[in-house]
Amino acid sequence: AAATERYIEANKKSQRSHLEAAENLPGGNTRSVLYNEPFPLFLAKGFGSQVEDLDGHVYTDMVGEMTAGLYGHSHPVIRKAIIDTFDQSGISLGGNNKYENELALEIKKRFPAVQKIRFCNSGSEANINLMVVAKAFTGKNKLVVFYGGYHGGQMSFGHGNPSTNIEHENFLLAEYNDIASFNSVIDSSDDIAAVLVEGMQGAGGAISANPEFLKNIETKCKEKNILFILDEVMTSRLSSGGLQKVYSLKPDLVSLGKYLGGGLTFGAFGGRSDILRLFDPSTGHAIPHSGTFNNNTLALAAGCAGLKKVLTLDAADKLNERGTQLRKSLQKACEGTKMTVTGYGSVMNFHFTTDGKFNSARDSDNDITELYHLLWFSMLQEGYWIALRGMVSLMVVLTEKEIIGFEDAVKSWIVKNRDLL
Ligand code: PLP
Repeated sequence: AAATERYIEANKKSQRSHLEAAENLPGGNTRSVLYNEPFPLFLAKGFGSQVEDLDGHVYTDMVGEMTAGLYGHSHPVIRKAIIDTFDQSGISLGGNNKYENELALEIKKRFPAVQKIRFCNSGSEANINLMVVAKAFTGKNKLVVFYGGYHGGQMSFGHGNPSTNIEHENFLLAEYNDIASFNSVIDSSDDIAAVLVEGMQGAGGAISANPEFLKNIETKCKEKNILFILDEVMTSRLSSGGLQKVYSLKPDLVSLGKYLGGGLTFGAFGGRSDILRLFDPSTGHAIPHSGTFNNNTLALAAGCAGLKKVLTLDAADKLNERGTQLRKSLQKACEGTKMTVTGYGSVMNFHFTTDGKFNSARDSDNDITELYHLLWFSMLQEGYWIALRGMVSLMVVLTEKEIIGFEDAVKSWIVKNRDLL
């Protein structure tokens, strides 16, 4: 209660803006995940590794737009790519442009499962397109998904109301990291087009996959002629070749998004040429895929510049090594408490549960909500911006000093609040 009061007192401008916005926008915003009680903070600007809110507080950004902001705020390389492209080409030309193939080539170099690719405006759209093509290619109707999986607002399982999912009757739900559960679901129907799975459940709580669990999906899919769709919208950043590289997977289809558009609105889906061919308009009977902004020059050029000049293969591996080191150190600090840290590489999530374990999204039934709030309020006070749900993801622009500062702040918080933990 004291932390909430301090928050209200310190953020009067955000509070006013929230109340004004709520007159026009349900809940005062357009991203449900960014709502919190008593009201969310309004950010005025971001620069490098920092963000500033309306009341003038400056925070070190430790969540990096939930993984999409990997390049930080207004990175000079991204900024230059956007401005040069704006000046030289314009934004939406209403015709094909060179940036599409340039980014396609860069993405194909990193993710070998992507033989052909198409662009769209979000990870959600990418997954919708893959579900459509999987059904068309196989002539089957159902999709196997996992409890805790998140593939877009209306394609999330175990978060919110399942009846709001698109085509909810066509989803078959299995347990994540549970081979027996998956095998029984995949054997339960002859009408399965594809399995849609994350290599690490992101929104489900940064739950890493057991490699055998993913391998079993790949093998079973091959045996049964079912398509294996790997959702790498969040995880493509977790190595120089995504989690498909880490676990040596060969998915038939892959969805991508987030930082790959340089931090602008972006999504992409790709995979086997014979499947992607169903989108080829030259066949005369293609699946329609014609979003107005699919080939907007700015996201394509910014994405390309980011991969070529900032997130080189070496830089991607280094960022993830640093994340692993941070997570392990924090995990050690919360041993024997109700707190734990999950994740992989540069993406991690703090959890607070009655038994201090978080091995599956099911464990959120034991969440101690007050402790998530307390950590969040406390980190704001210390000058760190993390997600209320406990998510942290490293941006390339964070300095070693900033990362260590955050690590120390969390460790001191654990010591200070030992009696609550
Ligand atoms: N798939 C995964 C694994 C995600 O984490 C997300 C977003 O968080 C999405 C899909 C949806 O992407 P977008 O928010 O760009 O629609």
